[in-house]
This record gives sequence, structure tokens and C-alpha cells, in this order.
Amino acid sequence: EAVALMKLRHLAAETTDGLRVVLQANLEMPRDAAQAVMAGAEGVGLLRTEFLFMNRDDLPDEEEQYETLREIMEGMGGRPVTVRTLDVGGEKLASAISRRHGESANPALGLRAVRLGLREPELMETQIAAILRASAHGPLRILLPMISAREEVEAVRMVIGRVADRLRAQGRQLPDRLPPLGVMIEVPGAALAADTLADVSDFFALGTNDLTMYTLAIDRGDERLAHLYNPLHPAVLRLLQFTIEAARRASIPLSVCGEIAGDPRYAPLLLGLGVRELSMASAALPRVKARIRELCLTEAVDCAAAVMRQHDSATIATLLDGCGANQT
Ligand code: PEP
Ligand code: MG
Repeated sequence: EAVALMKLRHLAAETTDGLRVVLQANLEMPRDAAQAVMAGAEGVGLLRTEFLFMNRDDLPDEEEQYETLREIMEGMGGRPVTVRTLDVGGEKLASAISRRHGESANPALGLRAVRLGLREPELMETQIAAILRASAHGPLRILLPMISAREEVEAVRMVIGRVADRLRAQGRQLPDRLPPLGVMIEVPGAALAADTLADVSDFFALGTNDLTMYTLAIDRGDERLAHLYNPLHPAVLRLLQFTIEAARRASIPLSVCGEIAGDPRYAPLLLGLGVRELSMASAALPRVKARIRELCLTEAVDCAAAVMRQHDSATIATLLDGCGANQT
């Protein structure tokens, strides 16, 4: 089976009726790039940059961050890379950085991610500078975590413009066009207001891990509640549907980069809802691709519609497993 999956590497992720789906990798460490390429990733849909800040007391400077990003871009051999700005706070690295600003009573709802970057401009500007410099080495996009309001996106866009001016004044060669700026849709309010965010964003990345957690008010890391943590809950599915529709209306690309993207069981649902890009851990790529290659889009659309009318998880699972089953 492993051999069969490896052969898929050079085949397109295409349904039986010819819909081409883009499959990308989520990276957590620079060394993950090689594995992503090996597994056939068409790019990086989510580069988590927290690793740069982990297990150390000091902060990485612009040069260090730039060098690391450049290595990753080179590792990906010219494929597009989506770099997410620092997502600390909450369950991620209750780090020295966030502690400097005092403890939050509710860390998951506290000063984290972009909120922290806007409050501590030097932190964000250093990272943006490194990212802009790396963008000279290949196609790159900037992704903002934990966005809840348009104003945050607009504020970061200002920061990017300012940093680009500074770099150019220093004689750095930057591409004429600054990288596309996208947002993670992972807060329920962002999903419900996806149409207003689409106006100010160049692309969306659906973060179903946090979206499920915040929608259902269930800590994604709490083992005792794991049985209730369900990305197929109707509330989560409706938010996905609304967000996908908003992206389609605004004609901006959307990818799904939460764990559900890497689970082949969900492929018919996501494709049927209109998703055309998935980003996942490299190890999951071959299986998801194999599933997509046995699916028929028109059938997936019917299947997704049926799932949206269902409330029972067991029935939903049966519907999804049955989609395209008679094709093979
Ligand atoms: C998500 O929240 O779904 C996501 C992709 O980001 P992370 O898992 O890094 O929070
Ligand atoms: Mg997240």
C-alpha cells in the first residue's frame, strides 16, 4: 500500500469528472519542507512560524528569521509558501513574550497572535521585514492568525507598507508587488462576518481546529472533552459553508488548513461545499489525494447537501463514506 501511495506523488489531485484540487502542506519546522516535496505537496498552505520562538529566552532577529524563511522557500523549490505570522498565546507557547504583558484570565481569548503583534509593533515589524525579504526568493503569501475584525487586517496592511518602505530605503530589493495578505478564519465571529473580511483580504485560510474549539466552547486540548469536539457539528459546518460562499462571491482563494483537511473521510464534504485547496500535514497528502481521485464532484455536491441536512454524526459518517463508493 505504501508503494501505491508513493506512486500518487506525480499524479494530480483530480476528481473522476476533472476537477483539479490543490493540495499543499502544513509545515511546523524547516526540516518538514523536504518531506512535503517528497509527498507531492504543491506548496505550503500553512507555515507555522512558532518554532522560531520556541525553547529560547531571546527573540530571533530579522536576519535569523529571514535566513530561516529563505531556506524553507529554497527547500520548496519555487512552490508557493504561505507564511503565517506568529501565533503565540492561548494553548500555544505561554511564552515570555505574552507574559511580558501580564497574564490573561482567559488565555484562549486573550492577548495573542496578531493582537500581540499589534500591541508590540517591534515584534510584528521584525517578522514582517523578514517575510518581505524572503518574498524576493519566490512566490510567498502572508497569513494572519486569530483575526476577528477588519480593522486588524487594515492595521497589519499599514505595518507591511511601512516596513516595505523602510526596507527599500535601506536598499533592499523587494518585488514591486507586495505579497498577498490573507486571514485565518478560525474565530466564529470572523466566519460570520466573512463577507466583510473578504473585502480587505486577498485570501482565506479556514482554521477548523480553532473554529471548532471557539464555536463549541470546547478546549481543543482537553482530553476529557474530546468526545464533544466535533468539526462536523452543524454549527461548525454552517460557518464553513458561509465562509466558503463569501470567498466565492468575493472571488478570493480559500483553503482549508485545519486537521479535517488531512482526513480523507471529509474530502467529499469539503469539495462538495466548494473547497478547491487543502493544506495538511505531509503524511496525510497521499491518502487524501487517493480519495479525491475516486470522487466525482457532482456526487460530492449532492453528498455535501445531504450532510448539511443531517444532525446525526453517525449518519453523516455513513453518507461521507458512501460517497463515490460505487465508482471504484
Ligand atoms: C487551526 O486553528 O485550524 C489551524 C490550522 O491553526 P493551528 O492548528 O495552528 O491553530
Ligand atoms: Mg489556529
